[in-house]
Amino acid sequence: MTTATHSAQAQYDLFLQRGLKLDMSRGKPAPEQLDLSNDLLDALPGFTAADGTDARNYGLGVGLPEARALFGGLLGVPAAQVVVDSSASLSLMHDVIVYALLNGVPGGQPWVGQQAVFLCPVPGYDRHFSICEARGIKMINVPLNDDGPDMDIVERLVANDASIKGMWCVPKYSNPSGTVYSDEVVRRLAAMPTAAPDFRLMWDDAYRFHHLTDENVRIAEIIAECASAGHPDRAIVFASTSKVSWAGSGLAALASSPANIAWWTKHAGIRSIGPDKINQLRHVRLLKDAATVEALMTRHAALLKPKFDAVLAQFSAHLGEVAGVSWTVPKGGYFIDLVTPPGAAKRTIALAKEAGITLTPAGAAYPYGVDPEDSHIRIAPSFPSLPEITQAAEGIALALKLAVAG
Ligand code: PMP
Repeated sequence: MTTATHSAQAQYDLFLQRGLKLDMSRGKPAPEQLDLSNDLLDALPGFTAADGTDARNYGLGVGLPEARALFGGLLGVPAAQVVVDSSASLSLMHDVIVYALLNGVPGGQPWVGQQAVFLCPVPGYDRHFSICEARGIKMINVPLNDDGPDMDIVERLVANDASIKGMWCVPKYSNPSGTVYSDEVVRRLAAMPTAAPDFRLMWDDAYRFHHLTDENVRIAEIIAECASAGHPDRAIVFASTSKVSWAGSGLAALASSPANIAWWTKHAGIRSIGPDKINQLRHVRLLKDAATVEALMTRHAALLKPKFDAVLAQFSAHLGEVAGVSWTVPKGGYFIDLVTPPGAAKRTIALAKEAGITLTPAGAAYPYGVDPEDSHIRIAPSFPSLPEITQAAEGIALALKLAVAG
């Protein structure tokens, strides 16, 4: 045993004795964050919407006008191009894929039977990949650079292969790396020629207002860029209030071209006679407009930022000198991507588990759960308390140190 291995083992063994028990496998808001929206419980003095709709009844599959206006303001699109439905954007994404498979999107035939393929910037969001895997869509990895997906590769692939029907994009504060797409990348995605006439960008704007710094990063708007590039139906934008108000009891929305909105409305109308408009009404009363949401997000950031900083400080203290180890420093979102030397992620996660820290499984950020280099660990600092996350980050760092030393 080398001296380095010996000391890494000793530090890790000492940590084991703390008997920590912590689940950090998902990026959930902490209870104090959920508390910020407790007024939702009292935000319903009535049930009549601005246009006179009785929110207690069936109807309005596209959502209440004021809920559409709220998301229109948040997403920078006209309210008429927004649907507010369901409480989880993931279910809207899933349904878009299912309708595309069974019915085809405007300008195309049903994808089912064509062996549809999606491009997946990696590392990416595991649940996007699970949807594709479960619904039989083949996935191709595309490297995610510091400014977004590698566009030379993307452009070459989509120009030559008509089976490539879509691409997952988390354009801002990406899960798990925190990557922000540059305006140039957004414009190239909007403008690129595709062999498939029915190609779609699944634009998951999950972290659009989830800033961690005062910079409040803004990027080019994909719907407008697609329209001006002559591909008005290319992008479908998804968002939700899962990490604004309450995860699981919030509002979800999709925004797109008038043709895609009509298409969605037709197919979604088969599966429901209308969304939960009572929840829409109380959210509109609480969240009001984009400025009110931005102010609320500042309060979320005040709770989240110290946790991210604590993780980064532990990593710097313990891993700063470890060759081949790096991590992202996100300006928003919910995750840090800890990059290990090739072959060390699984082992680190197993060692962390032995120390009582449950992390997202290695490989989760890759299609089919396979990280070819076994080198990415998704860190989700939001849910644990500050003392817990500080300890957990130390434990993860010590586990990684041991994994690479041993
Ligand atoms: N998209 C991304 C990129 C996410 O990270 C998450 C949550 N982890 C979601 C979507 C889920 O959003 P929702 O709660 O609206 O389904």
